[in-house]
Amino acid sequence: MTVKLDQITVSDLTVEVVRKKIKNLQIGVYPPHGRVRVAAPLSMKEDAIRLAVTGKLGWIKKHQLKFANQERQLPREYVTGETHYFQGKRYRLNVLHQARTAVTCLFEHGSIDLRIPEGSEIGRRESLLYEWYRCRLKEQVPELLEKWEQIIGVQAAEWGVKRMKTRWGTCNIKARRIWLNLELVKQPIHCLEYIIVHELVHLLERLHNDRFTALMDRFLPLWRQHRDELNRVALEHGEWG
Ligand SMILES: [Zn+2]
Repeated sequence: MTVKLDQITVSDLTVEVVRKKIKNLQIGVYPPHGRVRVAAPLSMKEDAIRLAVTGKLGWIKKHQLKFANQERQLPREYVTGETHYFQGKRYRLNVLHQARTAVTCLFEHGSIDLRIPEGSEIGRRESLLYEWYRCRLKEQVPELLEKWEQIIGVQAAEWGVKRMKTRWGTCNIKARRIWLNLELVKQPIHCLEYIIVHELVHLLERLHNDRFTALMDRFLPLWRQHRDELNRVALEHGEWG
């Protein structure tokens, strides 16, 4: 028998709590959005529930990530209700019809509003969103690049943003030119920073050898964590034109 549905927050995670006549607490993570639901014994104190959820955070996040990746693999139609990512956070897409095209991100509402004339095709909606993504990424890069050029003591002659199928960044050492994958705009900013550091370090060391690793360890001790984070994100092959 379900008695009461409640909601608690455990370290930025919203958890639905259902009270049931059961002996042991049960935790579930559900698709498509990784909703977390706990069935707790009637007499269990909230503190005890929190403690149990905290102990399972790693497991919960792992499952949420799996669902998020499954969701990312779905073909995109750029319609209202779809989930799109920006700087590591999920946003709900709203497609609104108006004569003047524009994209705005409403951080407080967790939505990206795409304003576009009625009858616009999917390709137009996609390119509008990606134009916006490109502008946002190009805003983020200069400050990070400048910071790390100073720290590492190298300078890129040129940098740019493009959509790449298999790599997050590339560095043409001879031309001292760095390309950053546009998809980085969807990842947390420390991931972008990691790629910038990685590509700049190539200006000191061409190969991924011990010297390269030692330089990365020196400049960005947590780089492995950021690399693993990016490795968990499948690049969306289907999406590339
Ligand atoms: Zn490399």
